[in-house]
Amino acid sequence: MAVGEFDLIARYFTRPVRRAVLGVGDDCALLAALPAGQQLAVSSDMLVEGRHFLSTVAPHRLGHKALAVNLSDLAACGAEPLAFTLALAMPRVDETFLEGFAGGLFALADEQGIELVGGDTTAGPLNICITVFGAVPIGQALLRSGARAGDQLWVSGTLGDARLALEAFRGSVSLPGAAFDAVRLRMECPTPRVALGRALRGVATGAIDLSDGLVGDLGHVLARSGVGATLDADALPRSAVLGSLPRALQHECTLAGGDDYELLFSAPPAHERAVIAAAAQAGVAVTKIGFVEATPGLRIVDGRGAALEQRFPAFDHFCSPT
Ligand code: ADP
Ligand code: MG
Repeated sequence: MAVGEFDLIARYFTRPVRRAVLGVGDDCALLAALPAGQQLAVSSDMLVEGRHFLSTVAPHRLGHKALAVNLSDLAACGAEPLAFTLALAMPRVDETFLEGFAGGLFALADEQGIELVGGDTTAGPLNICITVFGAVPIGQALLRSGARAGDQLWVSGTLGDARLALEAFRGSVSLPGAAFDAVRLRMECPTPRVALGRALRGVATGAIDLSDGLVGDLGHVLARSGVGATLDADALPRSAVLGSLPRALQHECTLAGGDDYELLFSAPPAHERAVIAAAAQAGVAVTKIGFVEATPGLRIVDGRGAALEQRFPAFDHFCSPT
């Protein structure tokens, strides 16, 4: 017998909740009031087939990624994940897809202690929209507006692999099988840096998660903070795979590649040891990539301090070529 909307919700997206007061099944979910001194952090991210993911992605990875990109926004604010909702449009009920998708989604949800409390399900072109809710102590959220002249700029993990994978899919780069698998994993299964964001509260002055490319996302931080910066393109952390490719491609992928979901953050030099301790506590590498200055604008230099000429515009869904 055909699986209907409500069977589908019951079968794939209904699980008992522990933190929330009421989960899937009624007109609203009910979340417990936050403890005194905490603020609610809320963020939504939508994934559209052909735009945010390729039809070749395994459903399990897609479920992971849909939640990961949302958790990444909570991470960038230093918030602790609590609950999320899922609005899902899909052309038809495909149980193999749903099983894989829900498996990837709940594996990450369980790992991060976040609960699915509601959503909406409809027929339509494949489209996934998640809204996450998190908690952060009042006044301690890491904001884009917090960078100050004199701060150091840091980034977590490595940059550029997701972009490299996209280029390989497009056929503009050819990679050996194992290298392709490795960068494809970075594109399809990003790791949200939730523990790092939390550990950076009170240590970093500001943060953003890198979804649209380093240069563009750093531009948002600089504009919001009313400052400028110098970035060392040769200091940008990259994987062994990307590091073995031509230098211009490395710069393109690390500076302008999107979908990294690493944290970019600023901190005063006096906090350097605290930054390193926070990274160690979170179990992720961090790298110093530049510094914030009072002079507006972004200056990109190479390891010898010479200016790089290329332009690296931010990805824009309405303006960038796809
Ligand atoms: P309503 O018509 O009142 O909006 P729905 O019939 O759309 O309610 O949904 C029934 C219940 O299932 C609600 O609790 C809703 O939050 C939940 N729900 C619907 N789709 C999803 C989904 N994809 N994931 C989780 N919960 C969902
Ligand atoms: Mg509804």
